[in-house]
Amino acid sequence: MRKNIVAGNWKMNTTLPEGVKLAKEVNAALANATPKCDVIIAVPFTHLASINEVIDKSKLGLGAENCADHRSGAYTGEVSAPMVASTGATYVILGHSERRQYYGETSETLKEKVALAFESGLTPIFCIGEVLEERENGTYFDVVKAQIEDALFHLSAEDFSKIILAYEPVWAIGTGKTATDDQAQEMHSFIRNVIAEKYGKEVADNTSILYGGSCKPSNAKALFAKPDVDGGLIGGASLDAESFMGIVNAFE
Ligand code: PEP
Repeated sequence: MRKNIVAGNWKMNTTLPEGVKLAKEVNAALANATPKCDVIIAVPFTHLASINEVIDKSKLGLGAENCADHRSGAYTGEVSAPMVASTGATYVILGHSERRQYYGETSETLKEKVALAFESGLTPIFCIGEVLEERENGTYFDVVKAQIEDALFHLSAEDFSKIILAYEPVWAIGTGKTATDDQAQEMHSFIRNVIAEKYGKEVADNTSILYGGSCKPSNAKALFAKPDVDGGLIGGASLDAESFMGIVNAFE
């Protein structure tokens, strides 16, 4: 069965002491809680090993926000999937729109990253989503379908089943402009059908599809109530333990 998941994406925020403090706060909030979803934080590379030491991994998953498209070697400044895994992290966000937009990530590089993530035992949280122009000109279904097909449909059903998808309409990320719960449901159901056509209904039904884009405690409940929305990938609102927990607790 697919899981409900709330994952924080801290992006390039917090110094190491600030990040450790925030992770401890989320960890403390989860200590006596029994949330109805898995909870994950994806944090800067520099924070992974330290945060791994201070959280209870049975309650709070840890992930990186990216990894390199090579295993090792002369790639100054890059951080590989095996390096991420060696910190104790078990998840990695791949294909975030900010990586696609500012760092030129393509489906080809993402294929490499997904393969290396699997090789290191990391679970990819794979992001897809259209930009505003594509939403407005009506090509958004085609765009999202192509993003999934091009980067993931070479995978076996077994490997595809290990992926968590995150639909993040780019026009909703960090803008305060959330997709309505109906818009989210419409796309999530479309994505599930695309997966079903390729891998069959069972794989599609078992894939967790998260929504991301200005999700906050005030709108999470309505979004998560939709049948094909299995949780959220949370940017801004994950930088405060209380608001992040407000989203976690939106699952009833
Ligand atoms: C994100 O970048 O993954 C995201 C969803 O950001 P925000 O919640 O700030 O829109």
